Amino acid sequence: MLMRAAVLTGFNAPMEVREVEIADPEPGEVRVRIAASGVCGSDIKALDGKSPVVRQVPFVLGHESAGVVESVGAGVTAVKPGDHVIVAMNGACGRCRNCGRGAFHLCSGPARVAAVMGTMRDGTTRVTVDGAAARTMIGIGSFAEFVVVNEPMCVKIPDDAPLDVMCLLACGVVTGIGAVLNVAQVTPGSSVLVVGCGGVGLNVVQGAVLAGATMIIAADVAEQKLKLAQRFGATHTIMSQDLPAQVGAIVRGGADYAFDVTGVPGVLSQAFAATQPGGTTVMVGSPPQGQPLTIEPGLLFASRRLMGTQGGDAAPLRDLPMLVEQHRLGRLDLGGLVSERVPLDQVNDAVDRVRQGAVARSVIVFD
Ligand code: ZN
Repeated sequence: MLMRAAVLTGFNAPMEVREVEIADPEPGEVRVRIAASGVCGSDIKALDGKSPVVRQVPFVLGHESAGVVESVGAGVTAVKPGDHVIVAMNGACGRCRNCGRGAFHLCSGPARVAAVMGTMRDGTTRVTVDGAAARTMIGIGSFAEFVVVNEPMCVKIPDDAPLDVMCLLACGVVTGIGAVLNVAQVTPGSSVLVVGCGGVGLNVVQGAVLAGATMIIAADVAEQKLKLAQRFGATHTIMSQDLPAQVGAIVRGGADYAFDVTGVPGVLSQAFAATQPGGTTVMVGSPPQGQPLTIEPGLLFASRRLMGTQGGDAAPLRDLPMLVEQHRLGRLDLGGLVSERVPLDQVNDAVDRVRQGAVARSVIVFD
C-alpha cells in the first residue's frame, strides 16, 4: 500500500517527504501505524553520511517510535491489530549465545543482524521508492506513516499510555536510564557526573535520580541545557571545562560515576579523570570513528572502570514496561523532554533545530 515517508535520497541534503510503497508483513513481521517518532542525534549522523550502517540511498531514517499495530504476518503471537506498541531498537531472538547469557542488546540472531543493516531477515526490504528497495534505520524507518518490523521489536503498552511521549522510551530514554541502571549500576547515595545534557543526557540525570544518587553534577556548554538538567534532578551544574578540578571542588576526590554523553574523546578522558579511585565512567555518546582516546594509565590503575554501552544495554521486554510504569507513577518526566511536536512535512526543519541544539527532542507526530 502507499504511505507518506521522509526519504533520504542523498547525504548532506534534506529528506524528501513523498509517497512510497510499503509491503504487507511477512511471517514473523508486524506492520505498525506510527503515531510519533522522535528525531535523534543518530538520525542526523546518518543524514550527514557519518553512520556506518547507513551507506546507501534510498533510505528511511527514524528509529524512536510508538504506534498501533495495523496488521501481522503469519505466526505472529506477541501482538495483534489494535495493540499499542513501542517499537524497540532491538528485537532479541532469545536463541543466540548472547541472548542466552542475558545480553539481549547484543543479540546476534539473523533477524537482528539484518535489522542493524536496515533490512529484513532475508536481506529484502518492505519499503520501495520508485521501484528501488529502501533500507530503514536499524530495521525500523519511522519517519513514515507505517513500518514493518520483526515481531520481537514490538513491545505492547497500555492503550492509555500517551504515544507522543512513549516513543521517546525506545531510544533516548532507555539509553540514558539504561546506562545508569544496567551498565554502571549506580547505587543509592552515589555522586554522579553527567557531561552533555541533551535528549540522552537529561535521561542519564533522571536515571541517576531513579537510582537514588544524592549528588548529580550536570555539565554542558549551554546554559539553557543546564537549567533543564536542574529541572530533571541535577543538584549541581558546571560548564564543561576542566572537569576534574570543577568536580573535585564539589565532591572531594571526584565523582563515583561519570557519564560522557557528548561522544567527544577529549571530553570522555576529562570525565574519566573526574572520577575518584574505584569510580566508573560510561561512554554513552557515540564517538567519531578512527579518533584515539587518550587516558592517563595511572588513573585506570587505581581501580577505575571505563565502560561502553549500546543503547543502555537495554532488554526491551524488561526495560520498556518498567519505564512506562515509572512514567505512570510520575517518576519519569517525558513531557519535559519534548520541545516541539511537528508534522512529517516539517521533518527537515526539526532536524535543523536539533542540530542547532535549540531543542531537547523534536517529535514528529502523525494523525
Ligand atoms: Zn536514537
